[in-house]
Amino acid sequence: MDMPRHNALVPAPYRVGEVYRELPDTVTLRLVPESGGRPPYTPGQFNMLYAFGTGEIAISISGEDEGEGFLHTVREVGAVSTALARLAVGARVGLRGPFGAGWPTAEGSDVIFVAGGLGLAPLRPAIRRALARRSDYGRVAILFGTRHPAEMLYRQELEQWRQRLDVDVSVTVDHADALWHGNVGVVPALIARTVFDPKNAVALVCGPEVMMRFTVSALREAGVPDGRVYLSMERNMKCAAGLCGHCQFGPEFLCMTGPVMPFDRIASLFATREI
Ligand SMILES: Cc1cc2nc3c(=O)[nH]c(=O)nc-3n(C[C@H](O)[C@H](O)[C@H](O)COP(=O)(O)OP(=O)(O)OC[C@H]3O[C@@H](n4cnc5c(N)ncnc54)[C@H](O)[C@@H]3O)c2cc1C
Repeated sequence: MDMPRHNALVPAPYRVGEVYRELPDTVTLRLVPESGGRPPYTPGQFNMLYAFGTGEIAISISGEDEGEGFLHTVREVGAVSTALARLAVGARVGLRGPFGAGWPTAEGSDVIFVAGGLGLAPLRPAIRRALARRSDYGRVAILFGTRHPAEMLYRQELEQWRQRLDVDVSVTVDHADALWHGNVGVVPALIARTVFDPKNAVALVCGPEVMMRFTVSALREAGVPDGRVYLSMERNMKCAAGLCGHCQFGPEFLCMTGPVMPFDRIASLFATREI
């Protein structure tokens, strides 16, 4: 983390520049700083967003806006996320960050993005980066699982990725509807059907923890070494500056050393329940 810790605790004022309705319970907010430029960030990092009068939560950076603002995709699940998701254009929010360790660039490798549901949000900047510099990578695969076809996040962008001939995009749903002709089942099952060189592949994984467990098993089975598998570990984050300990995961403070962690570093903790 670049900034001194006391500065890291003071929210900067941002305005909502635009609200994109993704799904009935999910929006992407374009947040623009009131003064000065947007600080630099690395795909996989997060900001602490403060809904004034309600509270503050960690939200992954899901993209940038022509160098000026941050994109954040928020699902309404509780008080703070609902307050953020219902902000109107022009509303003010507090923003601290960016925080944490991001995804590796993985240049020169085959790269497999594995996302479950809202887990596509923190992966999207890394996917965009890989596709913008496509020749720096070997094979690129995007494996995405969602509950239902109607709950497909970033539907249009997925379609654009799918139309490229240099990316393997596979989408699966837990429950199909009459119009769905694609894969049905869990996202880890897609790994065995994907062509890549396991010894030279890097896997970037984000989704519910149970999905990540099965994904790690499938990647191991395919021969990907643990040190080439990266997971985004979401824990309750409060200060985001390594002070309060809410995000402690064994010896790690995930707001600082995570949320993106190489699996070989957390494998023993990952096998422990309720940690
Ligand atoms: C590094 C990091 C990145 C994150 N990125 C995002 C992001 O990009 N977008 C986003 O919407 N959220 C993200 N979260 C989750 C977010 O920080 C909040 O935990 C979540 O929005 C709930 O906060 P709340 O105060 O609204 O609800 P709370 O009052 O904390 O929770 C209300 C209810 O919702 C349940 N709940 C909490 N979190 C979730 C969840 N993720 N899915 C389903 N149910 C849940 C709780 O168990 C509780 O029952 C991230 C968390 C971390 C640590």
